[in-house]
Amino acid sequence: MTEIEQLMRPNILRLTPYSSARSEFKGEASVWLDANESPFNTPYNRYPDPLQSRIKEKIARIKGLSPDSVFLGAGSDEAIDLLFRVFCIPARDNAVAIEPTYGMYEVCANINDVEYRKVPLDEEFDFDPVDLLAVADDHTKLLFICSPNNPTGNTFDASKIKYLLDNFRGILVIDEAYIDFSSQDSFLKRLPDYPRLVILQTFSKAWGSAGVRLGMAFASSGIIEVFNKVKYPYNINALTQEYALEILEKEECVKEWVDVLLRERLKLETLLQEFPFVTKVYPSDANFLLVRTRDAAALYNYLQDKGIIVRNRNKITLCSGCLRITVGNAEENRILVEALAIYGK
Ligand SMILES: *Cc1c(COP(=O)(O)O)cnc(C)c1O
Repeated sequence: MTEIEQLMRPNILRLTPYSSARSEFKGEASVWLDANESPFNTPYNRYPDPLQSRIKEKIARIKGLSPDSVFLGAGSDEAIDLLFRVFCIPARDNAVAIEPTYGMYEVCANINDVEYRKVPLDEEFDFDPVDLLAVADDHTKLLFICSPNNPTGNTFDASKIKYLLDNFRGILVIDEAYIDFSSQDSFLKRLPDYPRLVILQTFSKAWGSAGVRLGMAFASSGIIEVFNKVKYPYNINALTQEYALEILEKEECVKEWVDVLLRERLKLETLLQEFPFVTKVYPSDANFLLVRTRDAAALYNYLQDKGIIVRNRNKITLCSGCLRITVGNAEENRILVEALAIYGK
């Protein structure tokens, strides 16, 4: 058994996957009578490519990887859920994560009846990798590091993540949903050296495509193969696939959007710091700012009354008094700052 197979649930290891019509015959043909599809309403009458080969080829080229190390899901959320379903035996195995972080890891753990062990970050929103590993045991299959982290906005030191890669024996998941906004490098380049590393990225943030639900997981081909066995056969619908092929041609445009948002983030950070009711604007490597205020609830309600919705993170570990504010376009940010200027008076 490979290292990966030893970490997998035995039922998943033994699983014979559903064999769809489109996976049994993939070539060119003129008459398709194998999938009980309707002959009417082209092209939507046809089942989509179950493995999304054309999209993966484009992504692989952009990211400098092989297509067999790419998985596509209905948002990163699908990949997060698959990680639990593939590796964690319910009521026996566990997952470790920093706290605070992205809420879906814990929700997926709970849905799958997997114990979720949280290790609080320190006051600087940083972690000690030794503390994280101290919480892990023989049943720890997954360790989640979100970097840049949501909602704290910071990227973690690469050497700390590297320590986890070298010393954790389960699957290390690095969620890079915000990596396009970060000053730090992605861990994608290290993928060939670490067969137990899974990197999550998404079309929902920098790519401006949250509505179509498309997430990426990058990992060794051994892990990707199991994901493909366990996922729903046609998990990415034809409309999303068509759209993905189009947006992947617009890489330059996406880079411009990111540049604009980085400039806007800096502007917003500077302006927010001026308000007397703002006690701290945390440095951000993402497309949002975590802002500590004197009265988060009152400020949140005030903004809501003005039709401006931010995220209240007041009740989250280490985030009392904090609002998480997404960086919008120049106009949206101006409206926000003007409303805050009136609140301050
Ligand atoms: C927004 C976000 C995602 C994206 O999830 P999708 O399901 O791809 O929309 C993933 N991880 C983190 C930490 C996020 O903040």
